[in-house]
Amino acid sequence: MTHRTHAPALGATVLGYPRIGPDRELKRALEAYWAGRIDAAALHEVAATLRAATWTALRDAGLGSVPSNTFSYYDQVLDTAVLVDALPARYTEGGRPSLDAYFAAARGADSLAPLELTKWFDTNYHYLVPELGPDTVPRLAGRKPVEEFREAAALGITTRPVLLGPVTFLLLSKAAPDAPAGFDRLDLLDAMIDTQVELLAELAAAGAEWVQFDEPAFAADRTPAELDALAHAYRRLGEAERRPSILVAGYHGALGDALGVLAAAPIEAVGLDLVAGRADLTGIASVAGLRQKTLLAGVVDGRNVWRTDLDEALAYCAMLLGIADHVTVGTSAPLLHVPYDLDAETGLDPALRSRLAFARQKVDEVVLLAKALGGADEAAPALEDSRRVLRARDGAATRDQRVRARLESLRPEHGRRADYDVRARGQAERLGLPPLATTTIGSFPQTGGVRRARADRRAGRIDEAEYRRRMRAEIADVIALQEDIGLDVLVHGEPERNDMVQYFAENLEGFLSTEHGWVQSYGSRCVRPPIIHGDVSRPAPMTVEWSSYAQSLTERPVKGMLTGPVTILAWSFVRDDQPLGDTARQVALALRDEIHDLERAGLRIVQVDEPALRELLPLREADRADYLAWAVDSFRLATSGAADSTQIHTHLCYSEFGDVIDAIDALDADVTTIEAARSRMEVLDDLHKIGYRRGVGPGVYDIHSPRVPDEAEVTRLIGAALAAVPGDRLWVNPDCGLKTRGYAEVEPALRAMVSAARARRAQV
Ligand code: GLN
Ligand code: ZN
Repeated sequence: MTHRTHAPALGATVLGYPRIGPDRELKRALEAYWAGRIDAAALHEVAATLRAATWTALRDAGLGSVPSNTFSYYDQVLDTAVLVDALPARYTEGGRPSLDAYFAAARGADSLAPLELTKWFDTNYHYLVPELGPDTVPRLAGRKPVEEFREAAALGITTRPVLLGPVTFLLLSKAAPDAPAGFDRLDLLDAMIDTQVELLAELAAAGAEWVQFDEPAFAADRTPAELDALAHAYRRLGEAERRPSILVAGYHGALGDALGVLAAAPIEAVGLDLVAGRADLTGIASVAGLRQKTLLAGVVDGRNVWRTDLDEALAYCAMLLGIADHVTVGTSAPLLHVPYDLDAETGLDPALRSRLAFARQKVDEVVLLAKALGGADEAAPALEDSRRVLRARDGAATRDQRVRARLESLRPEHGRRADYDVRARGQAERLGLPPLATTTIGSFPQTGGVRRARADRRAGRIDEAEYRRRMRAEIADVIALQEDIGLDVLVHGEPERNDMVQYFAENLEGFLSTEHGWVQSYGSRCVRPPIIHGDVSRPAPMTVEWSSYAQSLTERPVKGMLTGPVTILAWSFVRDDQPLGDTARQVALALRDEIHDLERAGLRIVQVDEPALRELLPLREADRADYLAWAVDSFRLATSGAADSTQIHTHLCYSEFGDVIDAIDALDADVTTIEAARSRMEVLDDLHKIGYRRGVGPGVYDIHSPRVPDEAEVTRLIGAALAAVPGDRLWVNPDCGLKTRGYAEVEPALRAMVSAARARRAQV
């Protein structure tokens, strides 16, 4: 056994760093490359410059250990698939150069569909799902981690290569469509480990002293077989002949049983997420085998934008010092999910700024904590400053007594509507809709004109009045088109929204929007999540002007369009000084008032979108009931003030709801629209099984693809849906909003949809 008793010390560190570029340089370079405006050499040049800048900044900030291989052209899971030759052959065939094969797998090419893109744990980052087939034979085919290690070494920086752990890699993969029945991803474990053993030897030869294997899959519930796989992997890797010291990092939650497994493995260090995974501190003292390990105390929050409570962080470190001989300071998770640098924000209120820390500031916190842990006096002023900021936060700035008093005064009946049957009668009378009513999910194509109007207003090129005029013109066009197509329930088209959360953040008190706070969502796509920093309230109506204008143009019902509390939280940075459920209730109250104002303005239908309901679902089963309770509660608080005769719709963006199906029912919406075209209406059986009996609109065509469905195809899907749902409860609509499509596709698709619904309507 090669357990290192004389491992070099692991210095204070961060588990990973943003890579898109402080000014989104990589995004721009990627898009220029894809558009053929720059060549591969120019793209590589931008990437190398970004990597060098990151390593240098981290070293100069004083980190004891600087990570490398945290850069990616698209996604670290895809990088790993390429590294071990696990890219399906269809992407590499035909002599496609390796960089283009990589991008083909990421984004598709010609007639090739890309790999499936899916959410990375409970973050808003998306990774590409590797497909493992009968011909997948892992072998070390690339050298990216070694090359980047050398690149940093040439700058005089000895880095710690970060590798996606072999077990997490396999658990995130899926069987290829042609995999034999009974194929188990973990059958490939030994072959995967072989590749990593070879890689470790090369890294050691290149001079690496430490490597980091990420195993975040173990922050979720795992079977005994999966825990055994973890034990097996790190026994074999630990026993590798020639290797650097090994840090295994678990993050996005507690390691639970995996902690004992890692403690028993012949590795040198374990990284603990002491923010999301604080539960690991309970019982850690009784985990055998940690004494000789280095514990990387992940006390600086890698997922949120708040400054660290340094006293508390030091207390956790001190506690770990009672358990292991070596404790070093780190982030709870890679910093991939926070923006680069607070210093880039110019317009922030100083009091608020003092509470924030982006990636660059978090590095400083790690360095400072490491000094304080070492007993350095120089840390004292910073500790005092941290206390002062926390005291100020807990003062009046974050609290709005009016909101709090209102929430206190709520009674259970504020979350309940009348029986569905009563509502359904009232709504049928008031709306007079036909069976198989047709509608859309809300947004219409965001044309150049719409984007220009928003940009012109931001830049001050047009005044508020001109902006409004352009928005109204757009709404009028969208209403006229829908009437012409013959839809039954219309929408205003959402031209005023750049993003379904950002728009509300800009209109609510308690939210802050950043100028440069970009975070990678997938590939070159970045989002700028708003920051919820205080109690939420609604100073004025947010959507009424647009929706009521739309309604004034037509006799047909227009749906008011709101984003639900869970989705607003999921796509923002949230407060960490109160439970999420409390923040959700504040948002709900604002939406409740908005619905009231929409009703007064004559809207008879309001849709509250909750596409992120499943995304926030906790990774561990034990935490789910609590989450679903507050998620449902906040939706009902938002919607239950509506009159019985007001029809509440909700929209969810996915069809695999297994884990949240009861919650969807519990939302008690009158109509639920869901994605269904790709799953060919199977979701309806699931709803039927649980006795769902309100309105449902399973999407009859997939808006994620530019393909225009023909009428026959929509007719078939309506037929399939009618087998599970009676016509008076069945709605006919696309899978999701139309904002990413063009009118050339949208118009014929909606015409086919309406025509199919009408023809079928005659028969029910
Ligand atoms: N109403 C939104 C739209 O149509 C819903 C988007 C979503 O579900 N992600 O764009
Ligand atoms: Zn959707």
